[in-house]
Amino acid sequence: MAAEIIDGKAFAASLREKVGALAAAFEAQAGRKAGLAVVLVGEDPASQVYVGSKGKATLAANMASFEHRLPAETSAAELLALVDRLNRDPAVDGILVQLPLPGHLDEQAVIAAIDPDKDVDGFHVINAGRLAVGQRGFVPCTPLGCMMMLTDRLGDLSGLEAVVIGRSNIVGKPMAQLLLAANATVTMAHSRTKDLPDVVRRADIVVAAVGRAEMVKGDWLKPGATVIDVGINRLAPEPGAAKGRLVGDVAFEKAREVAGAITPVPGGVGPMTIAVLLRNTLVAAHRNVGIALAEDAI
Ligand code: NAD
Repeated sequence: MAAEIIDGKAFAASLREKVGALAAAFEAQAGRKAGLAVVLVGEDPASQVYVGSKGKATLAANMASFEHRLPAETSAAELLALVDRLNRDPAVDGILVQLPLPGHLDEQAVIAAIDPDKDVDGFHVINAGRLAVGQRGFVPCTPLGCMMMLTDRLGDLSGLEAVVIGRSNIVGKPMAQLLLAANATVTMAHSRTKDLPDVVRRADIVVAAVGRAEMVKGDWLKPGATVIDVGINRLAPEPGAAKGRLVGDVAFEKAREVAGAITPVPGGVGPMTIAVLLRNTLVAAHRNVGIALAEDAI
């Protein structure tokens, strides 16, 4: 039987709607909107598109959007001064510095300068540490979105075998931490893992975050497994086409014949990322002002 296709677009739309309604209630109570500041340095075309869509989504969710577009030659001191201003600005609940930064800027130093309680991307080491020890903080948006889709489909993850392929700081590692906190038995696989197909074959849950087009094959999967495909890879264009197709890290057509449920690319994990960013900003706003919010319910 073909796998259920997990509709990330629909899931994200319903999360955005929920966040939008709660953001309107926040405004009524706090007397101001929840605010997200996004900082973009340079003219990277993909980053410009991301920043534009984050700004639009923020406004659509009844929040204030503060966009700071700086020239590529911005110095570290200028960027750090802006981050410092945003840290102290009471209208700003969340701060996101769009990565990658131009080569002369130290990304870790910039992330370290963000107030951890406004770090809605969850990239600050304080938030990575909070996640690791189970304290309240901010969790990176992509893995948190994956987790929401997993618990929506599977409910309690206790005792399930989960294999996370990829160990990046922004996807693989926080994903594994979230699964562990939900009592799954977690294996982290990476580029040095031996016999990856055999490791994946024992998984009830597979999260692929590698960045290699269609690497995970259908016959690597345990029948009925839930597969979350984080990868976004553009194939070479077909003859006559201007752009190649977008595919994930999982060979979707074969995988869907074996899996129980699978996220498509595009339309799976991707749309969830911005929705979770809005969710994290809403949470930050409530914490900053001291208004109660049932965080686990969103
Ligand atoms: P990354 O390059 O930082 O990490 C990739 C990881 O894959 C590394 O830890 C590496 O050990 C592992 N890896 C590489 N080759 C491997 C192999 N042959 N076998 C097993 N593991 C291997 O990437 P990232 O930032 O974690 O992103 C991963 C993918 O997810 C990319 O395609 C990226 O575009 C996509 N992504 C999507 C979203 C979204 O919103 N949907 C967000 C972030 C990243």
